[in-house]
Amino acid sequence: MRDTNDWDAIVIGAGLAGLSCAAHLAKAGRRVVVIEQTAKPGGLWSSFSRRGFIFDLSTHWVTEPQTLNRMLEDLGGPPVDFIQLEHLGRYVGPVATRGSAGAPGAPPPPRSAAAVPAWDFTVGPDAKAFKDAVRAQFPAAVDASLDKLVEDAIEISRCVDSLPTASPELTPLWSRLRTTISMAVRTRRLRSLSRMPADEYLARLFPGEELSGLRAALHTLAPIAGVPSIGLLAILGTGLRGRLYAPRGGAQVLSDAFAEAARRNGVEIRFCRRATSILAESKRVQGVTLDDGVELRAQAVISAADAKQTFYRLLGRERVPDSYKKLLEAQPVSEPYGLISLVTTIEPASLGLGDTDVFICPSNEMPRALESVEPEDCLFAMIFPRYTEPGADTTERAIQIVARAAYAWREHWETYPTPERGDEYYALKEEWAGKIIARAQEYIPRLSSHLVQTDVATPITFYRYTSNTDGAPVGWHYAGQRRWKQRVPFVRGLYQAGHWVGPSGAVPVTRSGKWAAELVLKDLG
Ligand SMILES: Cc1cc2nc3c(=O)[nH]c(=O)nc-3n(C[C@H](O)[C@H](O)[C@H](O)COP(=O)(O)OP(=O)(O)OC[C@H]3O[C@@H](n4cnc5c(N)ncnc54)[C@H](O)[C@@H]3O)c2cc1C
Repeated sequence: MRDTNDWDAIVIGAGLAGLSCAAHLAKAGRRVVVIEQTAKPGGLWSSFSRRGFIFDLSTHWVTEPQTLNRMLEDLGGPPVDFIQLEHLGRYVGPVATRGSAGAPGAPPPPRSAAAVPAWDFTVGPDAKAFKDAVRAQFPAAVDASLDKLVEDAIEISRCVDSLPTASPELTPLWSRLRTTISMAVRTRRLRSLSRMPADEYLARLFPGEELSGLRAALHTLAPIAGVPSIGLLAILGTGLRGRLYAPRGGAQVLSDAFAEAARRNGVEIRFCRRATSILAESKRVQGVTLDDGVELRAQAVISAADAKQTFYRLLGRERVPDSYKKLLEAQPVSEPYGLISLVTTIEPASLGLGDTDVFICPSNEMPRALESVEPEDCLFAMIFPRYTEPGADTTERAIQIVARAAYAWREHWETYPTPERGDEYYALKEEWAGKIIARAQEYIPRLSSHLVQTDVATPITFYRYTSNTDGAPVGWHYAGQRRWKQRVPFVRGLYQAGHWVGPSGAVPVTRSGKWAAELVLKDLG
């Protein structure tokens, strides 16, 4: 069945990238429809509520709220209210002893907790306090190395702030060369650090068995095996410079603002509709078909969905050149998580918790601690959502646990070979969550007997919600990431936007949506 509307562009996916792309196209006078398989905007930048508590799909902070608000303003929308976060996070090591004393120089341990971690420090906008805490807990760390770590982190974080913000595909060659030369001079170190894995960088600064705990502690800031040192330093620098913000009210507030800006410019968003194929003839895009059989026609299709889905399932493998398939196959996808969203009658503040995210590293043995996907010893974080809907019970509190997990765990969570969920899946999901909650109890005693709501999302849930390969949370894997061309080189009129063509995060993906719109406008003439 052919849609009767006439579209200039069809956007697949109402995540931040798709919404930004659609809004910018519509602002330029183009007729745009967005197809979204779920019931609300935002994709991975969204929130859901349980018993009146607002949970984000993931931890959500940004470093450049002004960039997002400038974009919203350009699109004719009101700005979003961002709050500044006090700390990047609290980083906690494996259980060393059980008792009442904390690690030397560490924040006071949870008052009634049984476990005392081997190390425990908070990163916030006070470099001296950070260095003092590290020195107190790791006396073997050389002062000069610690100073260098802090200097590198702040320098890298500043460099990242000043990276070019124009689409490389729209920047003339001469201008790209000029930028490259000036960047090369300013950020020589940035390039060398982007090639050096974080564990190698840390081993150079803090060598030896005695400092394995410090290396683990610092790697927990960017808890991804193989992450380049630049990634770790940028995060540390951001925390030390105090440049962390989050939308007041939760992640959904930002996505709703972009959806509203798109609608105000005339975009139609169709929720609960899945794109099932991208139509192309003679290497030129014709439109998209939907799961209800409707066929939409347009000269431009912008996919903000998973890259492998875009090329293999929607466009069709036969239309993808072998050389491009090789590129897609060579790049691993990001490591998935599981998410446990809890409502409890325990007050985290009574345990010295709740004012910042807590990252719990299971071991000083790197990279094993980062790689484990077993609930008994995987790395996990505890987040304390602060927003509620009117009417939420004031005696209850929310805790969210984000834990490393694997898509292919135990024969794909007993769903293999299809992601269909049955009794075995639900039993396994409960077992997994139970084990993680038991570990969280080391820090929040009796948690499991004070739960009034438990909601568990596995990598299978992430796959079902996003259609991302293996439930990938942030596009391709950070290690060895490449920048893909947003203009698909082998099908005219097909473009990509979002974290499958560049870095993940609200600012990079909204920017990539804008760049995709600029490419489409240039090509449509
Ligand atoms: C655990 C975790 C922590 C994170 N922490 C942060 C953070 O602190 N700060 C930050 O800025 N970012 C963070 N991110 C990353 C950020 O959430 C993502 O990079 C960003 O939201 C990706 O936006 P996107 O539009 O590219 O993709 P998505 O948000 O994935 O949007 C893609 C959309 O396409 C839809 N879709 C897919 N296929 C189809 C189809 N066939 N038909 C119709 N619709 C389809 C999906 O439903 C989805 O809505 C985090 C992510 C995770 C998972």
